[in-house]
Amino acid sequence: MREPTAEERAFRDEVTRFVEAEITPHVREWERDGHYPTELFTRFGSLGWTGIGIPEIRGGSGGGAIERCILFEELARASAGVALGIYVHAVLAGGALAIVASDELRDALLPGVLSGSTIGAWAYAEPNSGADVTRVQLSAKQRDDVFILDGTKLYITNGTIADLILVVARTSGSPGSLEGISVFAVDGDSAGLTRRSMDKLGMHPSELGELHFEEVVVPANRLVGQIDTGFRQCIPVLSQGRIFGATLALGIGRAALDAACTHVQAREQFGGPLTKQQAVRFTLADMTARLAASRTLVYDAADLLEAGKPYDTAASIAKLVASETGTWLAERAMHLHGAQGFMMESPVQRYYRDCKIIEYGEGANEVQREMILDAVIKGWRP
Ligand SMILES: Cc1cc2nc3c(=O)[nH]c(=O)nc-3n(C[C@H](O)[C@H](O)[C@H](O)COP(=O)(O)OP(=O)(O)OC[C@H]3O[C@@H](n4cnc5c(N)ncnc54)[C@H](O)[C@@H]3O)c2cc1C
Repeated sequence: MREPTAEERAFRDEVTRFVEAEITPHVREWERDGHYPTELFTRFGSLGWTGIGIPEIRGGSGGGAIERCILFEELARASAGVALGIYVHAVLAGGALAIVASDELRDALLPGVLSGSTIGAWAYAEPNSGADVTRVQLSAKQRDDVFILDGTKLYITNGTIADLILVVARTSGSPGSLEGISVFAVDGDSAGLTRRSMDKLGMHPSELGELHFEEVVVPANRLVGQIDTGFRQCIPVLSQGRIFGATLALGIGRAALDAACTHVQAREQFGGPLTKQQAVRFTLADMTARLAASRTLVYDAADLLEAGKPYDTAASIAKLVASETGTWLAERAMHLHGAQGFMMESPVQRYYRDCKIIEYGEGANEVQREMILDAVIKGWRP
């Protein structure tokens, strides 16, 4: 297993201290209320954590892929819903601005995202465009030096609270083609944009929105990347996102393992703690082994990204394995808790509800399997 450096250990300790002081005590309340603690965006901005992984020359705050993994893993250990909001804001919205936007647009918009004064969202999914990106229909028609956006986006994290939404839109061609799909940086308070909150099974503190665009006017200089190919240019942001999205599942899996360990040592049945039962011991051993394997895959993928080596297939494998392992760990933790784990007041049921979306968000796992196989057929091997 990968040995962390002294700096990485120190950073994990710093994040853990922050989480214990400023996140954990409020998680029950945020879960119950189902609203995002928006003050966290500026809090993370002031700590420099939204800028981790973004080159300093582009306004980032140093640190790289490993520090980003540590941050999201530790956040998700306490609340995957909180981690999801920051992840979409910093990794997807911030990443697209940092990596793809023109210098002028980046300089205008990225500082607000990095400081947290501008809350970001990434809006790709639509009623008819889910795992298949090429089905995007929301249209952006050019009229002189503006574009007019019409259509609907669904399931958008931070969608109802975002000041800036990176909207994936069709500028030419027809559904079924990746060409003709562009990306726009759209203000959340644009005239003609209406937003509705969506109820969901898990990730309760995160905000999820349905967005309707009716003749929303967006200046042409808000194009992120080139017209017709902007989405293609954003693919590296999404590939990198798989590694960091996978860390949410690692955090959930770790929390599930911790909860299970604590419970089976304390719970006495059949004349002693549950840890006396071999089946229970083996379950915990398997949980530990699978979590270790997932962590290795995720941090290995992050190491490749950091080293500037090809990481796409490693990112797909990490996302696939970590998400399914996280859900499995959460289910096993619930099982070991018996009836207690079925109670809403027990956190283990939350781990299960929260992890499920990681299996189909950020590219459904079936799509990851397709991409892994494509690479294998071309000769890629672990
Ligand atoms: C909590 C939450 C947060 C989200 N946040 C965002 C966000 O911030 N921005 C955003 O744009 N979207 C977001 N989404 C939506 C997410 O992008 C979609 O869920 C994802 O793209 C999959 O699309 P879909 O759910 O419509 O599933 P579909 O495309 O309808 O697929 C359904 C199922 O079909 C199967 N399937 C699909 N394709 C294949 C295939 N090729 N081979 C075999 N089986 C397949 C898979 O089992 C898949 O789970 C969020 C969703 C949720 C629930």
